[in-house]
Amino acid sequence: EANEKESMYLVSEFAQKYFHNTLINSDEGKAIGYSYFKERGFTGETIRKFGLGYSPESWDAFTKEALGKGYRLEYLDKTGLTIVKEDKQFDRFKGRVMFPIHSMSGRVLGFGGRILTNDKKAAKYLNSPESDIYHKSKVLYGIYQAKQAIAKLDNCYLVEGYTDVIQFNQAGIENVVASSGTALTPDQIRLVNRLTKNITVLFDGDAAGLRASVRGVDLILEAGMNVKVCSFPDGEDPDSFAKKTPYEELIQYLDANAKDFIQFKASLLMREANNDPIKKAELIRDMVTSISKIPDRIKREIYIQECSRIMDISEQVLVDTLAQLVQKDV
Ligand code: ATP
Ligand code: MN
Ligand code: MN
Ligand code: MN
Repeated sequence: EANEKESMYLVSEFAQKYFHNTLINSDEGKAIGYSYFKERGFTGETIRKFGLGYSPESWDAFTKEALGKGYRLEYLDKTGLTIVKEDKQFDRFKGRVMFPIHSMSGRVLGFGGRILTNDKKAAKYLNSPESDIYHKSKVLYGIYQAKQAIAKLDNCYLVEGYTDVIQFNQAGIENVVASSGTALTPDQIRLVNRLTKNITVLFDGDAAGLRASVRGVDLILEAGMNVKVCSFPDGEDPDSFAKKTPYEELIQYLDANAKDFIQFKASLLMREANNDPIKKAELIRDMVTSISKIPDRIKREIYIQECSRIMDISEQVLVDTLAQLVQKDV
């Protein structure tokens, strides 16, 4: 019901203000949360721009404050801000730094909360649960702050995490959003597609990052968008790389290393095939599957030529494989 959703938006907005205020003005927030963000290299301006916050190390400080202000327990429960167990109530995000997640139009939908310790047993990030206002497959972190820059620059950088988005902003690159660790979905791609036809996927410099991203990319091709990909040195993610790289150098790195996806994937697969003919046959099918997702026929043709060159296989074989795949689809 519309009224119910509105109540959930309102309590989320209150929570964002409470966490932000706690970060900026409380002794605990300043000592623990603010200094954490400072250490990561975020300025006060960036912290304000993203509405970052801190949830105090207390079982129910936030919940009590919200109830005291007249917000109803029902909506604290439905948004997941409060965990309700029998007659007891607990703050879900106790002791975490808070990243509010906004809709395209700037409403607060939910939160990501990061622990400050290196406790390997606790989840590093905790997210709001799915609710009537928060569907994680339909949001992109940072889209509200990035939308103008994406439209203006006609390109969108797609990264994995909250801090990648924020560190890029800090470095002066604003056209960036994150899928927040989940596999990219068609709904998320549609959000970007409204603003630009061009996506550059930046992934963490680890094998997991690479695999996850390469899988998500076929969906972007299916949407008829142009995809580039760019990787970072081993062990670096966009956040850690941007933090230690001056703006001019960062832009240069991105320009020099952003490769057309099809070319990138073809080279990657060739390296994997390692002259094993059986593996190579498999990978060629994988490659052609990606090409088959591209709606535009002329583009498909150009990519067939590219692949033929990179993978050292005749165009005819690729064309035949493509024809087989397309036939299976109908
Ligand atoms: P940090 O730099 O703060 O350590 P990160 O963004 O580099 O974080 P990654 O491990 O690269 O973290 O994960 C990328 C994204 O995946 C995170 O930003 C977060 O959205 C999501 N994520 C990571 N770990 C978890 C987790 N345990 N539970 C839920 N989401 C997670
Ligand atoms: Mn990662
Ligand atoms: Mn990362
Ligand atoms: Mn990181």
